[in-house]
Amino acid sequence: MPTTMTITTEADSQISDALKRIWGFDQLRPLQGQVVASTLEGRDAVVVMPTGGGKSLCYQLPAVVTERLTVVVSPLIALMKDQVDALSLVGVSTAALNSTMSDSEAEAIQSRLISGDIRVLYVSPERLLQPATLRILAQANVARFAIDEAHCISGWGHDFRPEYRQLHRIKEAFPGIPVQAFTATATPQVQRDIAIQLKLDRPRKFVGVFDRPNLTYRVVAKDDAVRRTAEAVRRYPNEGVIVYCLSRKDTEGLTASLIAQGIPAVAYHAGLAAETRKRVSEAFAQERANVVVATVAFGMGIDRANVRCVIHECLPKSIEGYQQETGRAGRDGLPSECVLLYNHGDVIRLKRILLDENQEMNAHRVKLLEEVRRFATSHTCRHASLSEHFGQPYEGSADGCGACDVCLGGTQAVADSNDISRKILAAVQEITSLPRSRSFGVGFLVSVLTGSKLKLVVERGADQAGCFGAFKGESSERVNSWVHQLMDLGLLSVSEGAYPLVSMTTAGQETLFEELPVNLVENIALILPAKAKATKGGAEMPENVDSGLFERLRSWRRELASERQVPAYVIFHDSTLMKVAASKPSSVDRLRALPGLGERRIEEFGNALVNMVIEYAAETGVTLDEPLGAIPPPTPPKVSSKTASVYGPLFKAGQSVDIIAGQLKLTPGTVWGHLADWVKL
Ligand code: ADP
Ligand code: ZN
Repeated sequence: MPTTMTITTEADSQISDALKRIWGFDQLRPLQGQVVASTLEGRDAVVVMPTGGGKSLCYQLPAVVTERLTVVVSPLIALMKDQVDALSLVGVSTAALNSTMSDSEAEAIQSRLISGDIRVLYVSPERLLQPATLRILAQANVARFAIDEAHCISGWGHDFRPEYRQLHRIKEAFPGIPVQAFTATATPQVQRDIAIQLKLDRPRKFVGVFDRPNLTYRVVAKDDAVRRTAEAVRRYPNEGVIVYCLSRKDTEGLTASLIAQGIPAVAYHAGLAAETRKRVSEAFAQERANVVVATVAFGMGIDRANVRCVIHECLPKSIEGYQQETGRAGRDGLPSECVLLYNHGDVIRLKRILLDENQEMNAHRVKLLEEVRRFATSHTCRHASLSEHFGQPYEGSADGCGACDVCLGGTQAVADSNDISRKILAAVQEITSLPRSRSFGVGFLVSVLTGSKLKLVVERGADQAGCFGAFKGESSERVNSWVHQLMDLGLLSVSEGAYPLVSMTTAGQETLFEELPVNLVENIALILPAKAKATKGGAEMPENVDSGLFERLRSWRRELASERQVPAYVIFHDSTLMKVAASKPSSVDRLRALPGLGERRIEEFGNALVNMVIEYAAETGVTLDEPLGAIPPPTPPKVSSKTASVYGPLFKAGQSVDIIAGQLKLTPGTVWGHLADWVKL
């Protein structure tokens, strides 16, 4: 086979044949088709495809179709192992070369390379550029190079890695061999820089759609990080959740607090022994662990397609990082949630860290951070903000995206904003002038405002102040959120250090004296469970999935993944198991008719799946061989859409009517009405 290939009908049919036979997919996604075609034509390219977009297929498929070697440069060794496992399982000859392997292992791979036996080789940048590796590859008839995580080569990106800078040597060592750069997050500036740094030859540019419609974004005030995190995690019992923290210490502290609340969580950070890290990653991928509290070191190597929630306990350092980290939620296209806990203190903390590091790109990094702060505090649609950041206009419907806190009506103006703000500013002024309480923190201020007779409040005589109890009866959480907003608006400031102290800024004084208007908002989405948006394009959730069977298939997959030491998704995606649990095929032939399985997997797992289905049907009496999605759902009684989407999960979670009423600020009667409707659903 030649290195390049013109796209002919024959090539087309080879592509669709391989796609179906090996991956079990019916067709390439539109951008994948274009990238594969350009690869086969031998063109260099910069490909920006959001996480979950299907980058791996773009370089794996050409290797299979042309039966020639594709070298994939990838920074993470953990990722390599999973990719090698996944590809080997479907019968593609794959190997990885990195520093963790013994000389004899490396030698075995090298001779396979020279004999032309390997289709896909994963290699770390350092290893690739070693003279020995370059020598072997010169004899191995390389057809193309794919550079994964290519943004790491750009100083303008958010994750610059010096070892990537040398990758321009590929073009020097292998002139004429096409190089494709892949990344999930790159602004137009970073895209240009990638092409320049890699010395690509007239690269074609492919930029996918950045929006991830199946993700619901929420920004939540970080008043009590543990509590907010626990609230979000509890919305996803037995599902994959990643919580990102800033420091190693934070991951450990938060893990301990979650465990204390009965949430089994595990910590992950670069300071743990390699063996422990490996164990955590594998347990997560194999679904034996569900909640991982990690630094961003738990990153590119995570291969779990059904992560349902990504929580940022601390502000990320850039929008690119945020997009990349949240991109790990819902890679299977099913509805998932991203929660960002925000307070101004984190901005200060991150800036201090950046400035301490004293690096050449510092000003640029502060700018990246400032973009995140703006994103978090803005009240525009999150989907729109993210898309526009990457230079793509977002076309939501007139009533919003339906999948972010802003559009879900999660933020609403506080009715008496001006009055409230003035009361708080005046209170700060008054407390500051008290003889015994010049310096105080947010907690103290909130206690005084809500009229709480804490020991410290009384000791300092603040219970005698005019502002004491100015918001008596309000929850301290609401008052806390107002105070934080005044800080974010620059009307109050808070000092750095272990005990941050509140003070009034000049802008705050002006606002108070000149009675300037202040807009406070509140995040009501905070108390509502995730309302997932219907997926566009991604996997579709059949309506008639039998949840008992689905859970049984998942636990079979969990055992198998553990036994084989591979991530669960390597065996089957959730969406595939859902299709089985919906259609309940009684034979392997019936199973074959379902989309997304692939011949290799059917051969290997077909019988096991069918046996489980039959056994389940015998136990429960469910009907076998239902057409996919063809069972019409029972005609629903007329109920408000909120009954199902908002109240359903709360009822299901066993919450009492009184508690729900309290949370949603409704009367118990209203909630009883919804419960009655929900029972009929
Ligand atoms: P990325 O590396 O861009 O994050 P992956 O290569 O991991 O994305 O693919 C994301 C998901 O999409 C995987 O579950 C993969 O199996 C699935 N996928 C990729 N290409 C297709 C396709 N053409 N049809 C259906 N599913 C696909
Ligand atoms: Zn929105």
